[in-house]
Amino acid sequence: MASKLATCFVCCNLSSGFNNCNNNYNQPTRRVMCSPFPSSCKIRHLRILSSQQQKRQYHKKTSSSSSSSQPSSIDGGRTIDPKSNHDHSPHNSTPSALNVNGAEQAEQLSGGQLEDLLSMIKNAEKNILLINQARVRALEDLQKVLAEKKALQAEVNDLEMRLAETDARIEVADQEKTHVELMEGQLEKLRNELAEKGSTEESNAELHDLHNDRIHSLTEELNSVREENASLKNAIESFKIQLNDVKNNDERLVVLEKERLYLESTLKDLESKLSISPEDVSELSTLRVECKHLSDKVENLQLLLDKATEQANQAVIVLEENQDLQRKVDKLETSLEEANVYKLSSDKLLKYNELMQQKIKLLENSLQKSDEDINSYIQLYQQSVNEFQDTLDILKKESKRKTLDEPVEDMPWEFWSQLLLLIDGWTLEKKIAVDDAKLLREKVWKKDKSISDVYMACKGQNEDGAISAFLGLTSSATSPGLYVIHIAAEMAPVAKVGGLGDVVCGLSKALQKKGHLVEIVLPKYDCMQYDRIGDLRALDVVIESYFDGQLFKNKIWVGTVEGLPVYFIEPHHPDKFFWRGDFYGERDDFRRFSYFSRVALEFLLQAGKKPDIIHCHDWQTAFVAPLYWDIYAPKGLNSARICFTCHNFEYQGTAAASELESCGLDSHHLNRPDRMQDNSAHDRVNSVKGGVVYSNIVTTVSPTYAQEVRTAEGGKGLHSTLSTHSKKFIGVLNGIDTDIWNPATDPFLEVQYSANDLQGKAENKEALRKNLGLSSADVKRPLVGCITRLVPQKGVHLIRHAIYLTLELGGQFVLLGSSPVPHIQREFEGIANHFKNHDNIRLILKYDESLSHTIYAASDMFIIPSIFEPCGLTQMISMRYGAVPIARKTGGLNDSVFDIDDDTIPSQFRNGFTFLNADEKGIDGALVRAINLFRDDPESWKQLVQKDMNIDFSWDSSAAQYEELYLKSVTRGRAVKRT
Ligand code: ADP
Repeated sequence: MASKLATCFVCCNLSSGFNNCNNNYNQPTRRVMCSPFPSSCKIRHLRILSSQQQKRQYHKKTSSSSSSSQPSSIDGGRTIDPKSNHDHSPHNSTPSALNVNGAEQAEQLSGGQLEDLLSMIKNAEKNILLINQARVRALEDLQKVLAEKKALQAEVNDLEMRLAETDARIEVADQEKTHVELMEGQLEKLRNELAEKGSTEESNAELHDLHNDRIHSLTEELNSVREENASLKNAIESFKIQLNDVKNNDERLVVLEKERLYLESTLKDLESKLSISPEDVSELSTLRVECKHLSDKVENLQLLLDKATEQANQAVIVLEENQDLQRKVDKLETSLEEANVYKLSSDKLLKYNELMQQKIKLLENSLQKSDEDINSYIQLYQQSVNEFQDTLDILKKESKRKTLDEPVEDMPWEFWSQLLLLIDGWTLEKKIAVDDAKLLREKVWKKDKSISDVYMACKGQNEDGAISAFLGLTSSATSPGLYVIHIAAEMAPVAKVGGLGDVVCGLSKALQKKGHLVEIVLPKYDCMQYDRIGDLRALDVVIESYFDGQLFKNKIWVGTVEGLPVYFIEPHHPDKFFWRGDFYGERDDFRRFSYFSRVALEFLLQAGKKPDIIHCHDWQTAFVAPLYWDIYAPKGLNSARICFTCHNFEYQGTAAASELESCGLDSHHLNRPDRMQDNSAHDRVNSVKGGVVYSNIVTTVSPTYAQEVRTAEGGKGLHSTLSTHSKKFIGVLNGIDTDIWNPATDPFLEVQYSANDLQGKAENKEALRKNLGLSSADVKRPLVGCITRLVPQKGVHLIRHAIYLTLELGGQFVLLGSSPVPHIQREFEGIANHFKNHDNIRLILKYDESLSHTIYAASDMFIIPSIFEPCGLTQMISMRYGAVPIARKTGGLNDSVFDIDDDTIPSQFRNGFTFLNADEKGIDGALVRAINLFRDDPESWKQLVQKDMNIDFSWDSSAAQYEELYLKSVTRGRAVKRT
C-alpha cells in the first residue's frame, strides 16, 4: 500500500506533456489527490499555453517599439523614467483583447500553434485511456483496502472481547487484593494478641498449637493469593499492551476509513470528469475544424496586428513629441515664474526709469540749448570766416602788389588776428583739441613762419585738409594719448586677492595697447610674487610723506609687471604697514591704506608727473579723491581728472571720523552728509563715499550691478549718494586678460588646447584627476569646478549643497578657495577632511594661482552661485577654458551668462545655465539640466563648449568704454580750467 502511494502514477505517465504537477510525495493524502486531475489539468494547460504563446507572439512584434519609447533621464547615475511609474512588464502591456479564450483564443492561433494543439488533443485522448486504466486500478486498490478493512474489523472485535474479559479479571484481582490486605491486617492483629497472651498464659500449649496451625494455613493461603496476584498483574500488563495495539489499530482504522471515503469521493469526481472528457474531446474535434477557418482569420489578424503595431509606433512617436512639448511647457512656466519675480524687481527699475526719462528730458533741453549756443558760435565763426575771407582778399591784393620775399613779420596784425580766430573757431567746434589749439595760438603769437606758411599753402583747400595741415605743426609737440596712473591695492599676478587685481592689470594692458601711457602705483607688500616682477630696483630717492602729524620716509621701487611700469612704495613707518605677510585683514587697514593713498600722491607730486587721469580702486585707495582735491591740487598736482572704480560696495572702509586726520584730511570739513560722512553712522567716515563724492568719474564693474546698487537693498547704505551722483556713475563690464587666460598658450597646463582641438581639454581633466587623486574610472563623469573666495557673498551654502548634489548626480567636484571668515574656513575644512580620500570630491582650501588654471582647464562645468556679484571673472575665465558656467542671475553674472534654454535671449548669446532664486531648488534645477545635457547629448555639449571658448571677453571693448569716459572727462576738465 505504502509503496503504491509513493508514486503519482497519472503524473508519471503524463509527465512528458505536463510539468506542472508539484505534488509532495511524502504526504499520502495529497498523493492520492493528484491522480484524479489529469484530464482537466490538461485542458487548463492547453488554454494557458495557447494564451501565453499569443502573448509571446505579440511581444515579439511590439518589443522593439515599446523599449525605444521609454523616455529616460539621468538621476545620480541611475536611469530614471521621470514621467511614468507604470509597470512596463510584458503582461501589463499586452492588449486585453489578446487575453480572450474559446473562439477568440483560437482566432489568435498561428499555424505552428495549431500543430501544437492537434498533438495535444492526441495526447489528451491517450491520457483519457490512461485515466480509465488508472480508474480500474484505483477500484482494485479500493477492493483490497475494503478487504483489509474487514479483516481488521474482525481483529478489532476479537480484541474488544478480550479486553472485556481482561477488564473482568482485573476487577476480580482487585477484589482479591483487597481481601488479601484485609487478611494481612487480621493476621497482624492476631500476632499481637498472641504475643500478649504468650506472656500471661505460657502454659496453655494447646492453644499455642492451634494458633500455629492457623498461622501456617493462613500463610499458605496468603502465599497462594500473592502468586495469583502476581500472575494477575502480569496478565493486566499483557492486556494493557494488547489494549494499546487495539487503540493503534483503531486509529489506523479511522485513517483507512477516511482514505476510503476520500477514494470514493475522488472516484466519483473522476467518473464525473471522465463523463465530461468525451465532451471536451468532441469540443476539441470541432475546434480542429474551426482551426482551419481560424488559421485564415489568424492571417488576417496578423495583418491587422502589423497595422496596429505600426499605429502603436506612430502613437509612441506622438507620445514622445507630446512629452517634448510638455517639457517645453514646463520650461516656459518656470521662465514665466522667473519673469514674474524679475518683474517685481523691475518695478523699482521702472520708477528709476521714469526718473531717468525726466533727466533725459532735462538733458535734451540743455542739449538743445547748447545746440543753440553752438549755432550762434557757428554764426559768429561764419562771420569771422567771411571777415577773414575779406581780409584774405585784401591780403591777396596786397601780396600781389608786394614782392614775394617780404618778411613774415611784415604781415599785418589783421592777418594774425584772423588766424587766431580761425583756430579758436575750430577749438570751440571741437574740431581740434584744446592742447593743439594752445600750441597753434602760441605759434601765432610768435608770428612763427611755419604757421603762416601752412596757412598760405592751405589756400583753396577744404577745411578738413586745412585742419590736418595745421595739426601737422603740433603733432611733434603733443602726446599721442592719455597719461593714466592707477593707484591700487592689488595687481595681478604679483599682488592679487580677487578680481580687483585682474582688473588693474587687464585694463592697464588694454589701455597701453591703445596707445596711452599707463603707470601703476602699488604698496610694496612683503608677500608679493616677486618672481613675476621684471627688473625690480629701488630708486635712489626718498619720498617724505605726512602721517599722524609727522613726515615718514618712503622708498620707491620700480619694476615691470606684464610689460607695465609699476612703482612700489615701501613705507619706513614703525608700524611696517605692508610687512604683515598678508594683503588685507589687518586691524589697522584703514590707517595702512590711507597712508598709502597719501604717499602715492606725494610721489606723483614730487616726481613732477602730470597725469591726465588718476584712477583709484575700491575703498583702499578711494582716499586719493579727497586728498587730491583738498591737498594735492592746491600743491600743484592739478593736471588730472579722478576716476574711482568700486569693485564691490560690500566693502566701504569706514572708521571713526577722527581717523581721517592721520593722513592729513580735515575730518570736520569732510564728516558731513554730502561729503564723507557714513550714511548710517554719523560719527564715522566712509572711504567709498569719499571716492564717489570727490571723483570726476565713478564706475562699477557691470551695468546690472550699477542698477542694483542704486536700490536700498543693493547699495549697502550708499544708494542715496549714488543717486545724487548718478550723472557721473556708470557700470562698465570687466573683461579678462586674454593673454594670461589663454588655454592655447597657458604654461600652467599639462597640454595646451583650443576650441578647435578639445582633446587637450580631456587630457587636462585626466591630469588633474591624477594630481588630486580622483577616480579616472569613468571618462564621461562630469567634473564640476569652483574657484572662489569663501565669503557669504559667494553663496557658500549653495556651494556646499552643490558638492553633495554633484556627488548624488554621479559627477566629480573640485573646489579651490579659502575664507577670511574663520567659521566658514572651519566648516569647509570639515568637509575637506570628510572627503579627504574620496574618489570624486576634492576641496583645496588655499590660494593657488597655478592650480586655478589647471582646474579651469579640467572642468566640464563651473559653478558660481553668488548671492550678489558685482561682475565676477570666474564665469568669463571658465568659458574661455571651455567650462560651461552655472550661475545665479545677479550683477555681472546676469550680464555675461545667458541660459541655453532662455527663449527671450537670442540663441547666439546663450552660453550657460542660470537660476534666479538663491536657494537649493534654484541651483538644483540648473545643475541637473547641465549634467543631463552633458550626459545625454555630447554633441550639443561640445558645440556649447566651443561657442563659449570663442566668446570675446577681452578688455578691448571695456577698455574702449573707459577710454571714452577718460577723454570726455579730460575735455570737460580742460574746458572748466579755461573758463
Ligand atoms: P572676487 O573679486 O569677488 O573675489 P571675481 O570672480 O571677480 O571674484 O575674481 C576672482 C578671481 O580670483 C579669479 O581670477 C579667480 O580665479 C581668483 N581666485 C579666487 N580664489 C582663488 C584661489 N583660492 N586660488 C586662486 N585663484 C583664486
